[in-house]
Amino acid sequence: MTARNTLWHLDAACVGADPEVFFPLDLAPVSHGVAAAKRICALCPVQAECLADVMIAEDPARRWGISAGTTPAERAALFAAQRQATPAAVAMREVA
Ligand code: SF4
Repeated sequence: MTARNTLWHLDAACVGADPEVFFPLDLAPVSHGVAAAKRICALCPVQAECLADVMIAEDPARRWGISAGTTPAERAALFAAQRQATPAAVAMREVA
């Protein structure tokens, strides 16, 4: 088993970026705001770690902004797919 890297955020491409870039008012997938945030995430060396953390920690009732290069709708779809794929694993996470 490999130790989980908990310091990944130190290498994040968004360090020093304007946080407002990641919270565009227009969350349409083709909007300029979403594209700007996704461009930063696309260059991020820790995007996989970021997505893993979001999938574990994000409150589904409070999804907002761009995280790990995904919109709230895209993350909702990922959550739904994960839930279908591993219902037991998701249930265990919710109990923990
Ligand atoms: S994937 Fe995007 S939001 Fe996540 S750490 Fe990297 S730049 Fe920041």
